Amino acid sequence: MYDVCIVGSGAGGGMAAYTLTQAGADVVLLEAGAPWDNAKDSAMLTWPYESPRRGKSTTERPFGEFDACIGGWEIPGEPYTRAPGTEFSWWRARMVGGRTNHWGRISLRFGPYDFKRKSRDGLGDDWPISYEDVAPYYDKIDRLIGIFGSKENLPNEPNGVFLPPPRPRCHELLVKQAADRLHVTCIPARLSILTRPLNGRAACHYCGQCNRGCRVNANFTSTNVLIAPALATGKLTLLTNAMAREVLVDSGGRASGVVYVDKTTGADRRVRAKVVVVAASALETARLLLNSTSSFFPNGLANSSGTVGKYITDTTGTDVAGFIPKMMDQVPHNHDGVGGMHLYMPWWLDNAKLDFPRGYHIEVWGGAQVPSYGFLGGIHRYPSGGGYGKQLKDDYRRYYGATIGFSGRGEMIPNDDSYCEIDPRTVDRWGIPVLRFHWKWTDHEYKQVKHMQETFRALIADMGGQVFSPMPTAEQGYGIAAGGVIIHELGGARMGDDPKTSVTNRWCQAHDCKNLFVADGGPFVSQADKNPTWTILALSMRTSDYIADQMKKGAL
Ligand SMILES: Cc1cc2nc3c(=O)[nH]c(=O)nc-3n(C[C@H](O)[C@H](O)[C@H](O)COP(=O)(O)OP(=O)(O)OC[C@H]3O[C@@H](n4cnc5c(N)ncnc54)[C@H](O)[C@@H]3O)c2cc1C
Ligand code: SF4
Repeated sequence: MYDVCIVGSGAGGGMAAYTLTQAGADVVLLEAGAPWDNAKDSAMLTWPYESPRRGKSTTERPFGEFDACIGGWEIPGEPYTRAPGTEFSWWRARMVGGRTNHWGRISLRFGPYDFKRKSRDGLGDDWPISYEDVAPYYDKIDRLIGIFGSKENLPNEPNGVFLPPPRPRCHELLVKQAADRLHVTCIPARLSILTRPLNGRAACHYCGQCNRGCRVNANFTSTNVLIAPALATGKLTLLTNAMAREVLVDSGGRASGVVYVDKTTGADRRVRAKVVVVAASALETARLLLNSTSSFFPNGLANSSGTVGKYITDTTGTDVAGFIPKMMDQVPHNHDGVGGMHLYMPWWLDNAKLDFPRGYHIEVWGGAQVPSYGFLGGIHRYPSGGGYGKQLKDDYRRYYGATIGFSGRGEMIPNDDSYCEIDPRTVDRWGIPVLRFHWKWTDHEYKQVKHMQETFRALIADMGGQVFSPMPTAEQGYGIAAGGVIIHELGGARMGDDPKTSVTNRWCQAHDCKNLFVADGGPFVSQADKNPTWTILALSMRTSDYIADQMKKGAL
């Protein structure tokens, strides 16, 4: 009998394991994937030509052979389905550390407005908590994990406890100049990468390969920043290849443990625990709860409101890239940096003057990066580019680093047509029923993405550049990425004060089952125009502190 059983070892589960073991709890952590350790297994500092595939993707590594994440859009034997007419893609990691092995490490706090959007524009719902409830936890994770950035005192982009940001590179300086001319706020990025040594971890040496996993642990992974210290306490039992099938309940309707499939043998096993924390990633968590049926919970565990799997969202997104003639024939110089942007643009406009609610931030990419498979593909799109032999080689040198791109990442408002449910006809290779997705964007999102496209094109034009692709039409949804493609899926177990309309309370504790907690993106009430992981981490720490406190008081 453990004190706590946690399902999933990504951002949310890793933080719960860290916080609860520090508090002295005996914890078992079930992880569906295999072990993988960025300090040993990463392909950092490997040249593309050292790979027989030149780094090209494999089935289990769709973002390239050297990418750190094992998993992807499709996992053999683990399908998901879509309702007719639904476009939705679901990226799943299957490894210790989950998607924190290769995430972009853009680490943005939600701001005060983001917790209270309904009060501001009447759409969606407010969170039952406010920025002030989460702020102390954001501060703690800034100090524990490390984040660079700059204090800008913007109203809805709170300052953090920042390490110094890296200086902008050549292409980013051009972007900054254009943004200033067009009055788009452009500030140093906020990434959980160490620019100074912290808590025994080395500072970044600017090799730019964060997505491969960092051998010196200078960026954040759940594996080495949270789970390793949790294991060092002697209080954590980590079970890998352990795919949770169902959360068990006892005769009083309390969670009593978890049944999981030992993927190495295919046999079912069970662990017993006084408290269960589900952190399998928002949608896997909805699936696990819906599959945990019993006489107490015939419609799924913690689902008396019928809202498990509802109010799910993804970030809106679209990209535009262009060729910047000013940047060709560059004098070779040092462009080294972190594996991500050094500058970004937070939301800067007033919705009262726009035809859509909410906003988006802009991510910047391009410049001279380490060449990888497919590098400078499509060179015929550059003026007189392409050809054969010497001319082709000269063109590669000339155009190397002369591309800049922008990605918009914006807020979707939950709607009744976007949800997931159990597909009654399909099971995975372990016999576990799978999710079926329903998805619809509304005019709010289409108009927002149209604005992104227009802004990015204006920025590229201001730099004297040429955009590679024509403006997408209304019929093409203005280039909006399909649901799930931005990989920021949230909701499905949203928090609220009313048990009739929400799954968890303000502590991410199930209304229906007091010793069951959700510690991933499931309890999110709204998306915000920020990437979600810093908030998943902060909420997981807050929830874990609450569990430790309640256990001490004998209330669980
Ligand atoms: C390419 C990429 C870039 C990203 N960039 C950013 C970014 O810059 N900023 C940002 O904020 N976010 C980013 N994200 C999103 C970020 O990775 C997620 O928000 C975050 O990892 C979610 O944490 P989690 O713990 O909920 O889930 P995960 O990290 O996905 O971890 C879930 C874990 O649970 C395990 N699991 C699932 N089901 C079961 C089961 N039934 N039993 C046992 N274990 C199970 C999985 O194997 C996995 O290890 C990015 C994601 C991707 C893929
Ligand atoms: S850029 Fe820095 S943090 Fe990223 S892999 Fe290289 S050394 Fe590690």
